[in-house]
This record gives sequence, C-alpha cells and structure tokens, in this order.
Amino acid sequence: MTSQEKFEKVVSLCKRRGFVYPSSEIYGGFANTYDYGPLGVQLLRSIKEIWWKKFVEDREDVYGLDGSVLLNPKVWQASGHVDNFTDPLVECKKCHKRYRQDFLEQEGETNCPECAGSLTEPKMFNGMFKTFVGPTEDTSSVAYLRPETAQAIFVNFSNVLNSFSPKIPFGIAQIGKAFRNEITAGNFIHRTLEFEQMELEYFIEEGNWEKEFEKWLFDMLKFAYDLGISKESLRVREHTSKERSHYSEKTVDVEYMYYFGWKELYGLAYRTDFDLKQHSKFSGKKLLYRNNETTEEFTPHIIEPSMGVGRTFLAVMLDSYVEDGDRIVLKLKPSLAPYKAAVFPLVRNKEELVKKAREVFDGLKLQFSTVWDDRGNIGKRYYSQDEIGTPYCITIDYQTLKDNTVTIRDRDTTKQKRIKIFDISLFVLKSI
Ligand SMILES: [Zn+2]
Repeated sequence: MTSQEKFEKVVSLCKRRGFVYPSSEIYGGFANTYDYGPLGVQLLRSIKEIWWKKFVEDREDVYGLDGSVLLNPKVWQASGHVDNFTDPLVECKKCHKRYRQDFLEQEGETNCPECAGSLTEPKMFNGMFKTFVGPTEDTSSVAYLRPETAQAIFVNFSNVLNSFSPKIPFGIAQIGKAFRNEITAGNFIHRTLEFEQMELEYFIEEGNWEKEFEKWLFDMLKFAYDLGISKESLRVREHTSKERSHYSEKTVDVEYMYYFGWKELYGLAYRTDFDLKQHSKFSGKKLLYRNNETTEEFTPHIIEPSMGVGRTFLAVMLDSYVEDGDRIVLKLKPSLAPYKAAVFPLVRNKEELVKKAREVFDGLKLQFSTVWDDRGNIGKRYYSQDEIGTPYCITIDYQTLKDNTVTIRDRDTTKQKRIKIFDISLFVLKSI
C-alpha cells in the first residue's frame, strides 16, 4: 500500500464510518470545508481533552481562556493582520486556476502545475474573512473572523494578570476555531477554511527564550508521540527568514509526511514582545509585567506553541490505519478510540442473552463510551469494530448465564479471554 493509497483509504473510511463528511454534500459540497460525524467528533473531543489536561490542568503555570471569534477590529490592526496577513496570489493565464505563489515556490514550480501555462504577476491577498456588524455594510462596521486564537489571549493579558497574579513564566491557553480565506485546495482536512487550534501563549523573560523554546518543542513532540503519531512521520523544520510571519523571530514547524510531501502539523514561534507592545501602542493601555521582588516592570516575551486539532486528527488516523489480511484495523490509542468497548449478545433472538447483555451494556456506558451491536454474526461485528478502532469487544454467551463471565477480545491481538462481568470496567479503564 503506497502512502497515497493509504491516504485515500482513510478518507473513504472517514466518510463510510462517520468520522468526516464533506460539508453541505447534498448541495455538491463546499470547497475546503468538512463536517465531523458521530465518531469523528468523539475523536476530536478526546484530542482536545488530552491536550487541555496536559497543557492546562496538569500544570500550575497555565491558565485557560475561551475568547470570542469576533474581536474589536483594532485588534487586527495592532496585530499587523490587516496589513501583513497577506499571501501572494497568482493565476494561470491559460486555465485560470489560482495558486499561492509561496506554495508553488516550495514545490519548485514556476508554471501552472495543472496545464503548465504561464502565471500572472503575484497579487497580495488578505487571508482574513471580513464581515459586517449591524445592518450597514460600510467601513465603520467591518469586523473579521479571527485568523488565529492568539490575539484574544494578548488582549486579556492584563485581566488574567489582575485576577491571578501569576509569576513569570506563565501561559494562557485556548482551544477554538480560527478562519482563513485559503485559496489553495486542501488535501482533505489538512487545509480548511475554518479549523480548530490548540494554542498557548507562554509569557517569559527575554533572556530565557531559547531555553523555553526548546522545552516547548520537546513537549509538542511528546504530545504527538503520546497520541500514537509515529516518530518516522514527523520532522522538525526551521522557517527561513522569508517564510517567517511578521511577528516572529524564530519559527519551527513540526511537519508530518503526507504522500504529497512534508506539511505543517504544528508550529512553534518565538513572537518576541511584538504583540504586547503593539497592543499597548494601539490601545493606549500599559501591558506590563511587574516583578514584585525587584519592582521592575517590563513587557514579557512570548513563546507560542500552536497545534491544529484537525491536523492531529488526520495524522492520528493515518498512523493508526493498518490492513491485516482482509481485516482493516484502526490501531487508535484506547484513550482516543471513539468507543472504548462494544457489547454483543451472542445471538439477538435469545431473550435471556439479550437481557444480560443489556445489563452489562447499561453499566459500562455510564463509565465510558460503549456501543451496542447485535447485527450479523460475531465475526462481522468484530471486523466492524476493528475498523473504527474499538479496543475491546465483549460478548455475552450461554456461559455468561451460568457463571457471570464474558469473553473480552483485544482489537490488536484478536485474542479473547474470559473475565468476570464485575472486572470488565477496571480492565478497560486501566487501558484508557
Ligand atoms: Zn493552468
């Protein structure tokens, strides 16, 4: 199986089994937008919960935030997005397809990749979605959908400082949607118009930036490995000065190897004191940190680890997908599996078996996500659960009625063993 074949199989599995659907499909879809189905949303939630636990709850120096998508438009002037968040757009003179010039350069293309036609001179194009607040559509009512979650964190810097008096270094974290008016086709959910970010702004003293940068890079990689993304599919690449965003002094990408090349999975940027200084200048409010021991006041510098939820989702799906003979297995970490367990009555037409299985199911689903299946034969049910990554299948059979034991089957080894009903939940909980 080539990596392109695998990619296509995962896309098809996502649709077939309810992980990801093309958005507005009955209307022919809508380019670069997708909807997460019943199993996809479970996986997304798990990724976000694990991230939040690791980077917010388990730490004493990080505070959570949920800022709004619409912010005062002055925020985007201060941040530089109104002037600088632009990409060079070129158009093919022959087939009129549009491309990001910087992407073409990366691939070494100087002509249209589709028809080899020559390209127009680049035109700068702002990547923010513009909208209007209120009934009039004029310049005074313009607002933007946020292109990154970071700015809500900067504008709340003083609020968090006043409420919690954190000691530097400290961070403010947020998970939320961001919107970018992308013109380049997206390779499934890799590049979409709206996407969810897990972002953290870590406020530091300038002299420590290199040390903190290294620590965050390590933590980001560790997070990816812990979710089951393989080391071989990842690399770290530093941005050239030309690629770097206007605010950044150093940026590295954690890249994932797709069949269409190495592409950004996560980004880590040293944003210097640019953001707080800009907001201070534009708002007229002092955004300073005061060291209570030395009484010195200064503008903190910022390290920003930024991680995409959808991109994590895609990398996890690709690295979990395995074919074992005619069996398709999604070897998701049990903590990420949409269902932790499936419960089957051996047959669906024996009332005592069904009743017993229902009792087991009702007990388990209160503790973790559990699914019921009584369709077809047991073998088919196993295959069906393997394909969506359910780590354990529990079957209630005739012996259960005699001794309250069930078979529990492991997705990865396909081995079954008998355990007591009483022990099932501990057995599953230990693995997640
Ligand atoms: Zn063309």
